[in-house]
Amino acid sequence: MKSIARERVEILFNLAFEKARAGDFDLARRYIEIALRIAGKARIKIPRKYKRSYCRKCFAPLIPSLTLSVRIKSEGRGSRVVYRCLLCGWVRRYMVKASKRGLRRG
Ligand SMILES: [Zn+2]
Repeated sequence: MKSIARERVEILFNLAFEKARAGDFDLARRYIEIALRIAGKARIKIPRKYKRSYCRKCFAPLIPSLTLSVRIKSEGRGSRVVYRCLLCGWVRRYMVKASKRGLRRG
């Protein structure tokens, strides 16, 4: 059962991105919402590659320059990546450590 749910979640995320690229943000949001609902019901985790790929506020798929603005701010020992949803203005900041490559998980 879990593998079916996982497959559906994956398909829905893919569809959401397809729709968002086609400019249909409302449908894209719906797909994300359904994907999250299925994942919640089946108690499965959202695949890591999708975890940060949607807006937590309006559920729009986040596509750089289309629905997402990405800014990197340098700060002391590290830098900060600021993600902003261009549809609703939701902002999320991630710390990037200078000593380690990549984003800190959390
Ligand atoms: Zn949003």
